[in-house]
Amino acid sequence: MLIAFSKKSQRIVDENGITSYNIKENRIRYFKSRGLDLGNNYEAYEENDEAKKLMPDSELVENLEKIYEECEKDKEIEYYVNTGNYEECKNNILSQGLRIQDAFCAQFVQNGKNCLSPNIKQNPDGTFRVFNIIHLNIPGILEEYKDVHVIHEILHAVETTGKQTSDNEFYFKTGLDNFTERILGEDEQVVIDDKKDDDTENRKYELLSENLHQELAIRVTRKLHEKGIFLFDDPIIAREKGGTEYERYSRITVKFQNDYMDNIIDGMVAEDPRVLTDVIGEENLEKLNECVQNYAKIPYYTFMDDYINKRDTELTRSVFRLITKGEETVVKMHEFQNKKYSIPIQKIEKAIEKVPAEKKESAIKAIKNDLSKDKGKNLHEVK
Ligand SMILES: [Zn+2]
Repeated sequence: MLIAFSKKSQRIVDENGITSYNIKENRIRYFKSRGLDLGNNYEAYEENDEAKKLMPDSELVENLEKIYEECEKDKEIEYYVNTGNYEECKNNILSQGLRIQDAFCAQFVQNGKNCLSPNIKQNPDGTFRVFNIIHLNIPGILEEYKDVHVIHEILHAVETTGKQTSDNEFYFKTGLDNFTERILGEDEQVVIDDKKDDDTENRKYELLSENLHQELAIRVTRKLHEKGIFLFDDPIIAREKGGTEYERYSRITVKFQNDYMDNIIDGMVAEDPRVLTDVIGEENLEKLNECVQNYAKIPYYTFMDDYINKRDTELTRSVFRLITKGEETVVKMHEFQNKKYSIPIQKIEKAIEKVPAEKKESAIKAIKNDLSKDKGKNLHEVK
């Protein structure tokens, strides 16, 4: 009853919607329990001086609410841990014989995440190989986007590679990021029920990686749907685009995607990050990444409101600056590519002699890509 007087409850009462009814009822019960009975009409209590005097101390209410919320959270976690589904998933994970600690814990299930957790299994000769766990919370995904989310996670499995680097360390590369994980001893726990769901900091290239990755997931899902293949989606409402926030960053990366998609794909699935940076330059990738990170920080809905209503604000200007910077960085990538591989102009001119004018630009792009890819390959063979 006391929580009916919290700030949150007050907001609901002020809005006077359907949900305010329960709160008002609890407040009336509170006043009655303190000996003030003005009937069952809440308005009668609102202006009553005695009711005002009986109002509980706001600090006490806030503390009580905090405690109440914590208890609720604990209750929910206990509920999830005790569900057959949690036990089943946990036992499934444990039976795989994994040797890196998995993200699976009660709070993780409660948060309903979809993700790939890189992991490893031991080979008969004692070495380790990549064995990822894909966590899917299919009922939790919006109806129209189930397929694109599932494909997104499956593609993470495609791109994740790795190798053992020492007795107790394993190197992973996923997307544009790479990192090292500790290999657990044989008797160490792989799943810890009450572990905190680690919302650790983003990986360095996480947002850019996820943006490019989602673009690929959209393309693959669209291809499947065009062929009439639907995994979890209802064909009538299925959609490919619009299911994640990552897609917003395409405002910054669209030119990069258009000019370098083949290299991006090669780079993301390769074990060696240099497969991409050798073509576009590490510094340029850093710069583009920085643009995406800065763009991710902008208050998106305020920006969209300004943008749609054609308002010239500091916010819209800063977004346009980021877009321009993103495009300029891609121009720098081309310069890097040209300089590094010093592609002979005459050779290109000769090759496109017979190409119709409107197709010349894409033909030049294709030749440059081929040349830099070949040289890239040689570089890695030497390593
Ligand atoms: Zn992802």
